[in-house]
Amino acid sequence: MPPILPDPIARAIEAFGRMPGIGPKSSQRLAFHLLRQPRAVAEALSQAVLDLKDLIVECTTCFNLGANDPCAICADVSRDRSTICVVEAPLDVIALEKLGAYRGLYHVLHGSFSPMDGVLEDDLRVADLVQRVRAGGIAEVIVATNATVEGEATANLVRARLQWDETVRVSRLAQGLPIGSDIEYADDYTLTRAFQNRTKL
Ligand SMILES: [Zn+2]
Repeated sequence: MPPILPDPIARAIEAFGRMPGIGPKSSQRLAFHLLRQPRAVAEALSQAVLDLKDLIVECTTCFNLGANDPCAICADVSRDRSTICVVEAPLDVIALEKLGAYRGLYHVLHGSFSPMDGVLEDDLRVADLVQRVRAGGIAEVIVATNATVEGEATANLVRARLQWDETVRVSRLAQGLPIGSDIEYADDYTLTRAFQNRTKL
């Protein structure tokens, strides 16, 4: 950062630059854009960021993020409580909920198994999933991890950890999701098809 920049601007640029997908050019543009906005815009933005930290909690059942614990999905008695769909991230829940085709519960792992990147089994919510299944009443676990190498490794890990229970069907979203793709970005048609044609894992 050129030293000519006043410190508050430099700090804002640095803060924006730490966000995913925001390069140096974009972070500068954001900082200068905000400078030109009325104070109310800056206040609303900072309040929204703080509210994210203060008002959003992790559901202690499915580990999805929401305004309450249990989350709205776990608390919804009309949902099928015998099916758990396992996803990597909260955004995947949103993508699947948008389809409206799935009426079961979720389990958010918060990452994918990737020892090369230092993400080990204990960094994911796998043991919590096993505990949920052990508690009983689960007929099917649908593994909807991404169609990436890490997503496949995660699916295999989940399968291995649930192997002891032969009464629970463990399935995986059908191929058709492009290899290397994130659930979050899949189009509705592809995702619905992958869901309907899920295969035994
Ligand atoms: Zn929940």
